[in-house]
Amino acid sequence: MQIEVQNVCKRYGKVQAVKDATFDVAEGQLLVILGPSGCGKTTLLRMIAGLEPVMSGSIRIAGAEVTHLPPDQRNISMVFQSYALFPHLSVRENIIFGLKVRKVPSAEIDKRLAKVIDLLGLANRLDAKPGELSGGMQQRVALGRAIIAEKPVTLMDEPLSNLDAKLRNSMRREICRLQRRLGISMVYVTHDQVEAMTMADRIVLMCEGRIVQDDIPESFYERPVNIFVARFIGTPPMNILPMCSTAHGAALVPEGPVLYPELDGSRFKMGIRPENARLSDKGHPAVVTGKEYLGSDTFISCEINGHELIVRTRGLSEMAAGARVFLNWDPKSLCLFDARTETRLADAPAANPVF
Ligand code: ATP
Repeated sequence: MQIEVQNVCKRYGKVQAVKDATFDVAEGQLLVILGPSGCGKTTLLRMIAGLEPVMSGSIRIAGAEVTHLPPDQRNISMVFQSYALFPHLSVRENIIFGLKVRKVPSAEIDKRLAKVIDLLGLANRLDAKPGELSGGMQQRVALGRAIIAEKPVTLMDEPLSNLDAKLRNSMRREICRLQRRLGISMVYVTHDQVEAMTMADRIVLMCEGRIVQDDIPESFYERPVNIFVARFIGTPPMNILPMCSTAHGAALVPEGPVLYPELDGSRFKMGIRPENARLSDKGHPAVVTGKEYLGSDTFISCEINGHELIVRTRGLSEMAAGARVFLNWDPKSLCLFDARTETRLADAPAANPVF
């Protein structure tokens, strides 16, 4: 393992910023720490970097205990949200600054610089000052400075958040390509689930200082551990609906089809992704309340027994508000959650199909 974080805790006064965090990053892996604002992502990353003291627990990098070592003895490089470039230095000087401080021989600096500018396409801007560059170019310089250090571990804290959506997409791909090509282990912090799903080999999702799920991206989508995860990943998020108890089992609507014959509906909630729900001529009765057309898809909002459920359909939908419809789905695409603990039942019984 390249990075091992074990039972790490951090408190600021009354705020428990990180609670008992444990996870590993394998060599050459890109791990994303994901979660809403204030959940402890940056604090956790700063503890791995050595910029924030650890209260309890341990951190190992490349097998060596580093928990109480300063950042420069951890063999890591970092890229921050605020690129932290020196405004009075040129692109070239910014990139090689760290190597000069460490008194790396100039022939070695030139060799590494040539490689980095080639990788990042910065050859034409080496003499420019950061203020003369676009956000994307500045970001590349910050990346260049991290890459030239040739450290086996790179830590990134929301490095793309200052860029517009289009540039974010291309920089995202660029970072992944570089990370794979250089074979570095990377820990990448973001609150953006799309960034996490598209970039990560593995995601650690945090909520209120705690890791709630540590998994591969597909599992977050298909097997979320609880309702928080189910709704954090996916746009629009998974529909979560309470069920009711009927004489014949759990249903969405008292007079509607039974979903789970052997369950007490009041104790469970049902989850379905918008793309797995469909409008049908039979199924669970609902009323269309609105729609959003996105070009490739239309999101149709329906009301079912007083609760909203969004259905994703391909292309333009003719469906109008007020239409009475039926909702249906492949029963295998349903998730079942405990209504009290909000955890997903890994061994849920099969739901009834509606024919
Ligand atoms: P964001 O995405 O908004 O940056 P985050 O998930 O990175 O959030 P942290 O910045 O790690 O979250 O903060 C976690 C908690 O610790 C928050 O409640 C924050 O207010 C608190 N916190 C962070 N740094 C300090 C500090 N230096 N002093 C006091 N409280 C802090």
